[in-house]
Amino acid sequence: MSNIWPLQRDCLAFYGDPRQPGWLHANTVDVSCPWPLKMGELPIAHILIHKKCAESLTRVLSSIWDATGRSLETIKRLRYDRYDGSYNLRLIRGSAAAMSMHAFAAAIDWDAADNAQHSRTHLFQDDSLLVAKFKEDGWIWGGDWSPGSIDAMHVQAARVHA
Ligand SMILES: [Zn+2]
Repeated sequence: MSNIWPLQRDCLAFYGDPRQPGWLHANTVDVSCPWPLKMGELPIAHILIHKKCAESLTRVLSSIWDATGRSLETIKRLRYDRYDGSYNLRLIRGSAAAMSMHAFAAAIDWDAADNAQHSRTHLFQDDSLLVAKFKEDGWIWGGDWSPGSIDAMHVQAARVHA
């Protein structure tokens, strides 16, 4: 089952305005990951995500976990235990006004060390398990973007193109 996520330009209507007081509390939930995550050396207990993405994220993570045979060793070999954040109230890099999908808590960064933004050499590929499973649920992968904006660590529940 694949979701059709909103276009980025429609995210204010779909996800609400994260600049409004109370938005974060009212619109986000914690999703637990079936395997332990770390941000650097810091253990991460939950992924903070927009509640409209929570069911999908839970399904994707569970599907990745099952595909590894629920093997933490495999997860670590693939570096899927390396997490680099979801919610972050900020603009798109290089933009004067457009909010990042991270501002809507509708984007997640994974293993930034091996998938640096704008780097054309990256660990994650189109057929990587993590990328494939997010895409199956309709998420957009930043590795598909043009060379100037490629962002292979990044997945988001919003479409850039109709
Ligand atoms: Zn990102």
